Amino acid sequence: MRGMDKKLKLLTYGCQMNVADSERMAGLLKQIGYSLTEDLSAADLILINTCCVRGTAEDKVFGQIGRFKTLKREKPSLILGVAGCMAQKEGANLIKRAPHVDFVLGTGQSCEVARVVQSLERERKHFVDISNVDGQTNSLDATSRCRSGQVSTFVPIMYGCNNFCTYCIVPYVRGRERSRKPEEIFAEVKQAVTEGFKEITLLGQNVNSYSGGMTFAELLRGVDKIAGVERLRFMTSHPKDLSDELIAAIAGGKNICEHIHLPVQYGSDKILQRMNRVYTVEKYLRLVEKIRAAIPAVSLTTDLIVGFPGETEEDFAETLDFLRAVQFDAAFTFIYSKRTGTPAATFDNQIDEETKHRRLDALMKVQNAISLEKNRAMLDSTVEILVEGASKTDDKIFTGRTRSNKLVLFAHGSERAGDLIDVKITQAQTWLLKGITL
Ligand code: SF4
Repeated sequence: MRGMDKKLKLLTYGCQMNVADSERMAGLLKQIGYSLTEDLSAADLILINTCCVRGTAEDKVFGQIGRFKTLKREKPSLILGVAGCMAQKEGANLIKRAPHVDFVLGTGQSCEVARVVQSLERERKHFVDISNVDGQTNSLDATSRCRSGQVSTFVPIMYGCNNFCTYCIVPYVRGRERSRKPEEIFAEVKQAVTEGFKEITLLGQNVNSYSGGMTFAELLRGVDKIAGVERLRFMTSHPKDLSDELIAAIAGGKNICEHIHLPVQYGSDKILQRMNRVYTVEKYLRLVEKIRAAIPAVSLTTDLIVGFPGETEEDFAETLDFLRAVQFDAAFTFIYSKRTGTPAATFDNQIDEETKHRRLDALMKVQNAISLEKNRAMLDSTVEILVEGASKTDDKIFTGRTRSNKLVLFAHGSERAGDLIDVKITQAQTWLLKGITL
């Protein structure tokens, strides 16, 4: 039925970990003859790698699956698969709800994707495997990846999470923490450098609890020594585990970027406790002081959730005060999304939608003013940026990022993606900077 040139349309939702998983699945499928296409109508296989962290992400996927029904009717040989967190959570329900889906693979089974697709090519029969949520193992990553992008890439160092924040579905759909071996991580970084990547981001749900035989700080120092790694980043850090050793590693690093994404999630002790974040506002503030004392050029970003069950106007006012006190460079703000199966979904005093949106707007207003002020402070300074390529809307405008992870736009001359260049900042906006090359 099929020649060697089969087409794969891959749709990825959610976080960077899903991007990395998609790259690995595309690599495995390449080994059995599938090359990536953007053209849905040309696809022999459509694979949706899903997210279930928020209800809106799930709704999008269900909408997408629904739209593929017509495509399947027009092209019965088309194989439709669903992988990732929502596949893990829903399992066979997905097929019950959408029988035109051919297979469902949980997060621990993504390494099986090629075998499953080959068996469906031979015989069309619904296939579901979500049996082993902890199944994502080290050996998986020895396989080649089809990396997207050309300058920056992700290297997962661990999978899963042990923290059980009360709002979060991740520990249930990604299993307990498993760390990859350092030698395997170093080998993958070297391979990425050989492929031309200049910037490496080490990925994990909580990188600071890395336990693959060395500390995360040691791992970071090890990667920093690899020739060709021009910039080194990591995410995400849980405040409870961010060690002095790690702060020292960043401060003394060669190419470890001065940027820490440190999700606080909320700015009042009462809500932090209900979220099971196991630190206090005071402790977080002391950590920020310590980081800034050791790494003066650091930029700090965070995640915040508004509308968590039980949130009062007083809690919210404390959070606004907290934002003003910390002065984050940027914050990613989210409305609490009730996830069935998590403790917080059963908490009393769920907040109504109107209040959630009102508080989100107020929160963003405060943070946007701070971000703008921080960016304005960079006017007339000269910064080194790593050129990423043409902007999405104008090929005469190129984009790059500072070591502190700020996006900079500049008029394109002879620069190429992957170049490290100096730019003078001439305009500052809330989410980006504009500059001229020197
Ligand atoms: S640390 Fe908390 S928020 Fe992050 S993945 Fe684990 S449970 Fe979810």
